[in-house]
Amino acid sequence: MKNKKGILERLKQDVVLGAEGYLFELERRGYIKAGPFVPEAVLDHPSAVKELHREFLLAGAEVMVAFTYYAHRSRMRRIGREIDIEQLNRTALRIAAEVAGEGGALVAGNLSETWMYDHREHAKSEKIVRPLFEEQIRWAREEGADFIIAETFDHAGEALIALDVIRQSGLPSCITFTPLRDTTRDGYAWDDACRMLEDKGADIVGINCGRGPATVYGILEKIRKAVKCFVAAQPVPYRTTPERPYFQKLEHPDRGCAFPVALEPFLLTRFDMAGFALAARDMGVNYIGLCCGGAPHYIRAMAEAMGRKVPASRYSPDKSVMPDAPGGKTCDGD
Ligand SMILES: [Zn+2]
Repeated sequence: MKNKKGILERLKQDVVLGAEGYLFELERRGYIKAGPFVPEAVLDHPSAVKELHREFLLAGAEVMVAFTYYAHRSRMRRIGREIDIEQLNRTALRIAAEVAGEGGALVAGNLSETWMYDHREHAKSEKIVRPLFEEQIRWAREEGADFIIAETFDHAGEALIALDVIRQSGLPSCITFTPLRDTTRDGYAWDDACRMLEDKGADIVGINCGRGPATVYGILEKIRKAVKCFVAAQPVPYRTTPERPYFQKLEHPDRGCAFPVALEPFLLTRFDMAGFALAARDMGVNYIGLCCGGAPHYIRAMAEAMGRKVPASRYSPDKSVMPDAPGGKTCDGD
């Protein structure tokens, strides 16, 4: 176990394929409540969490991200389960480690934005936010996480606090923003915000969540040019457009706002996501994965597009059902 290559060593050699989207996928499977989106399934249905990790692993994911997104004290308090916080965090890390061990994958501890940070009151916010990060990072380190993914930030200030806490733990850091608007809420262009993180010692910077492939490339290109460190991209597999650039803006034809539980008509195909993986790789993105909406079939298609054979490739589609197969199935046949 201790001989396995770390995240930075792997990134130096090749693209690392990640996989996220646990909240959305486990919500669809009936184990998570949409709205609060707290990962209670870790305690209430651990076998479901383990199974999803395993499906991602078989599909080619090289990192098992501990399911601790929104498992910070503020959010746990909101659903009346603050008392369970340490057990939930430690259990999530142990489940991730158990499955990672089945296939030589790495374990990432996971932090999310807290919604408690206000850039107009940085010092006051930091007093609230920092301890939330500190306890989650302490548990992640004690449970043997290989590195930390801190994600969905929309304030550079909050991301920098998370980075500082991770740096103090000695673990490598992957810090990503969710670029909904043109700038962070504290007014920095996304590439500038990423450069600020790099300057403070972040190992991997980039984006996750919010935008689909179509509306994320421009931002990614700027980030790639702005930093020398590794870049991560984990978009959502939804059909976002210049008019509706992030999935919270997508509108269902009959139901109004499609986010977060009527998004199905906007899902992209596995072929779209395979195309994204190649485009991101060719752009020089180093850590490639998916966020909300992600599922194992996408990850397998992304892995295979990059020339990899993964355990689940054994059940990859028969050529006759592929939409672009020469002599393959047509929609007009019977
Ligand atoms: Zn997401």
